[in-house]
Amino acid sequence: MRFDVCVIGGGVNGTGVARDLALRGLRVVLFERNDFAFGASGNSSGMIHGGVRYLETNPNVTESSCRDSGYIQQIAPFLLFRIPFIMPIAEGKKGRILIELIDAYFRAYDTYQPLKHSEPHTRLDAGDLSKLEPGLVGKNAGGVTFDEWGVDGARLCILNAIDAEEHGAELHNHTTVEGLARTSEGDWEITARDLMDQRRHRVRARAVVNATGAWSPITASLGKLPPAKVRVRPGKGIHVVYDRRLSNYGVLAEAIDGRQIFVMPWQNVTIVGTTDDDYFGDLDDVVSTSEEVRYLVQGVARVFPAIRAARAIGTYAGVRPTLYEYGKLEDSLSREHAIVDHADDDAPGVYSMIGGKLASFRLFSQEMSDIIARDLAPSSVCTTHEKPLPGGEKTIDALELAERHALTPVAARRLVFRHGARALDVLQGATEHEVVCPCEPVLASEVRHAIHAEHARTVDDVARRTRLGLGACGGMRCATRCGQIVARELDLPPSAGRAQAHAFLVKQAKMRAAALGPDQARQEALALASLRASGERT
Ligand SMILES: Cc1cc2nc3c(=O)[nH]c(=O)nc-3n(C[C@H](O)[C@H](O)[C@H](O)COP(=O)(O)OP(=O)(O)OC[C@H]3O[C@@H](n4cnc5c(N)ncnc54)[C@H](O)[C@@H]3O)c2cc1C
Repeated sequence: MRFDVCVIGGGVNGTGVARDLALRGLRVVLFERNDFAFGASGNSSGMIHGGVRYLETNPNVTESSCRDSGYIQQIAPFLLFRIPFIMPIAEGKKGRILIELIDAYFRAYDTYQPLKHSEPHTRLDAGDLSKLEPGLVGKNAGGVTFDEWGVDGARLCILNAIDAEEHGAELHNHTTVEGLARTSEGDWEITARDLMDQRRHRVRARAVVNATGAWSPITASLGKLPPAKVRVRPGKGIHVVYDRRLSNYGVLAEAIDGRQIFVMPWQNVTIVGTTDDDYFGDLDDVVSTSEEVRYLVQGVARVFPAIRAARAIGTYAGVRPTLYEYGKLEDSLSREHAIVDHADDDAPGVYSMIGGKLASFRLFSQEMSDIIARDLAPSSVCTTHEKPLPGGEKTIDALELAERHALTPVAARRLVFRHGARALDVLQGATEHEVVCPCEPVLASEVRHAIHAEHARTVDDVARRTRLGLGACGGMRCATRCGQIVARELDLPPSAGRAQAHAFLVKQAKMRAAALGPDQARQEALALASLRASGERT
């Protein structure tokens, strides 16, 4: 099969570029080795923020992030949620000067706020601080608030992928690219293997985009391209997840080494994040450690001690594909993005996208697509900033939806949040509304929709799309039922569904163990062992 462009990698940059090129009328094929959003994109803090941190060192990153945040709100208004932040400033001589400096800094940041439809910052005194966020402790000179936006990164990838597909792209989930070679006609031949059924694919394309994030150097070497040209400095980041929203605001804190960390309400949970450490391990198996959890909790507890009494229900971890520089601290590395043209490596038509942010993925994808379109679709223009993502076509009223389909308001609200107007497609044909995961609550019809309309093939894929099993029960109440549905819908034997549910529970338990105290960790170890034993029996 001959395509115009082959995109390797189904993170936000790969799915973003596939959507942009498909909307321009090009024939696109996309291969994703694990699942869409498996990498950094599905494990980020989900902030479509303006990058206030980068204002001093990379003001370009701040501006492009703010502009793209505005565009993302325009094309998927249902998917974004507001996160106002508080930055407390400790009392003392330094504190008084600091508050003036920080106030001035945020005044500069305010000039970018209209781009992302955010409120300007406010300056607070100590009294305001404790009224707004009673959980804050310590003697504070005051603080500032600033207004940011959050997004579900996994859904952002899925929606980009689905839109690409609806505009003619061919998507291959769980399919790893294994080879890349130039043909005698000057095309590229890409070989790939489906990791679930071992089916092999061989396609041809005029151009190839390596959008494999932290995997980029490995992918480059598949085409015998010099990995050093696409070198990244993989930076591991973890988050700790708590069972409910604990604060009104996102609160900034300092870790023991002075790095900025945070606690924030995120969807229906709270997350504490994030670390940023050089990573040299297996990119397909990134696991949080209890040391990383302690580092974060220690820092947050200094300003928000309630975190120590709160119930941690898990962790998640990802690896940033940061641009390579030697000798700098991880935190101070540039968050800019870069496109590498491999024409100089005797590979014309092959490009690598490295670095960047979730917040500026659309712009990065546009820059990549503009380069490719120069040769392959010269009269085309980018429309990704104005054409809605699937679900953004019109607004749906959640309460009306609840009434019409006899759903609880919570179930309807979260469906609209995740699917926008496509919530109607999710419910189409469903005669009853079985709740599979009560923590959210996730409906059986949404599980089926994930399988048939969003390329989910496993329980883990369903969880990524719906948040099934990511709440307080850790999947104990829903993984088995979800496995049954996956097996039935994909025509697999029931034992395959059970094995998938078991694999999901083991993964969740492994990610949870790092966040637990010694007693609970011992209990988890027992639960893991019994899960393993029951898995072996299935
Ligand atoms: C902890 C953390 C917090 C972050 N917080 C934020 C934030 O709040 N805001 C923000 O803007 N940015 C944030 N980022 C950065 C942002 O998440 C990344 O810059 C962005 O997601 C990178 O996307 P990507 O598509 O390049 O890479 P990825 O999302 O990592 O995608 C690469 C994909 O390539 C696939 N792949 C690899 N090899 C192959 C192969 N051979 N064949 C096929 N597929 C392959 C992988 O499976 C993977 O899915 C954060 C990152 C981390 C890790």
